[in-house]
Amino acid sequence: MGRPLYLAFGSMILMYRAQVSIIGAGPIGSYLSKKLAQKGIGTVLIDRKNTVGKYACSGLISKRITSFVRMNGAFLEHKIDGAVFHSPDNSFTLRRNTTQAYVVDRPLFDKHLFSEAVRAGAKTFLGAPVEKICVLKDAVECTAGQEKITSKMVVGCDGACSFLRDHLGFPGKTRLVNGIMSYVDECNSSSLVELYYGKRVAPGFFAWKIPRGKRTEYGLAAKENHLFYFKKFLSSQGVLFEKYYAHPIVFGEQESCKERAILVGDAAAQVKPFSGGGLIYGFISADIAARAIKKAFDKDDFSKEFFQKEYESRWHKKLLSKIRIGGALRGILDSLDNSELDALFGALSEEKKSMEQIGDMDFL
Ligand SMILES: Cc1cc2nc3c(=O)[nH]c(=O)nc-3n(C[C@H](O)[C@H](O)[C@H](O)COP(=O)(O)OP(=O)(O)OC[C@H]3O[C@@H](n4cnc5c(N)ncnc54)[C@H](O)[C@@H]3O)c2cc1C
Repeated sequence: MGRPLYLAFGSMILMYRAQVSIIGAGPIGSYLSKKLAQKGIGTVLIDRKNTVGKYACSGLISKRITSFVRMNGAFLEHKIDGAVFHSPDNSFTLRRNTTQAYVVDRPLFDKHLFSEAVRAGAKTFLGAPVEKICVLKDAVECTAGQEKITSKMVVGCDGACSFLRDHLGFPGKTRLVNGIMSYVDECNSSSLVELYYGKRVAPGFFAWKIPRGKRTEYGLAAKENHLFYFKKFLSSQGVLFEKYYAHPIVFGEQESCKERAILVGDAAAQVKPFSGGGLIYGFISADIAARAIKKAFDKDDFSKEFFQKEYESRWHKKLLSKIRIGGALRGILDSLDNSELDALFGALSEEKKSMEQIGDMDFL
């Protein structure tokens, strides 16, 4: 970050000013920061980590991503045109003859978005978590390590376990499952991801195998004992692994606005409950947030009501019904025993043709 505006020598606190403080330099925070810079709004991007880049994410993103981020050989690993769905004793394949999704290297993807934000003019402050947030009458103060950043408003892009959300007490009805994954040096040029369902494989979610060209990823999420089920799944696939990455996935409905504060991305549970993917919903919502924040500066209105009207109601209109339907379907799938799952997958395979025509991995 640039030089502090002033130093409070007694306590050795360094003071900065920005128009907007964004907590979290993940993909959604960096993207939002760039969008705001392009609208002439100065941001400071704060992250607790010294280096940006999340490892616990498959980076499987629908082709809709190209509306937000230009695909780039620096982070693009592989292309996908379908999926094989496995129940314990049944399976069916859905595929199209064109690319449906991209597999990106998540740490490199995050770094790319972060450098785009910096190039657009974002100031950054890395290496200390935001530990205190004070919402004042006409400003917000965020304290991270020895730094105090004062801005007109704060945005929580700080992920599934958002500090801003918990610290300011945003109400919500959400739950977490634990995702876990590992890469294996196994060349895999298939264009199909494989998804495995069943209470004995991954209770409350599913397991996956993702071809990544020069390597293969195995992963799963489960509501409990994720490491136990992960080891069991890899052993059933005859795979040995060394290193694994784990992180929570958040689902449900989360309020996203308060006076001078909004949540975007995983922090606002903008996640597809059916698959756990949060990138597309996060980018869609970040575009809406950028427009709302620009308007807030134009009108000098940072009230909760303003953000509810200009941000929350707009992202709800696009995503909330999908989140609710996805959540209901997730609940139905979770309740089925193995034979019911087999019967369902048998019935779905009969509808393969129509699902291939109308299916959309972002909007079920
Ligand atoms: C195993 C797994 C696989 C997944 N696979 C996919 C997939 O294939 N496709 C997909 O679309 N989604 C996937 N997801 C979900 C996806 O990773 C998230 O939706 C996405 O990372 C959300 O981005 P974000 O920027 O909102 O949050 P994050 O990427 O979580 O970034 C949050 C940032 O905030 C920072 N932070 C947190 N607290 C503080 C604090 N107090 N102070 C400062 N900084 C802080 C963190 O260090 C982090 O950099 C997967 C998730 C998991 C766990």
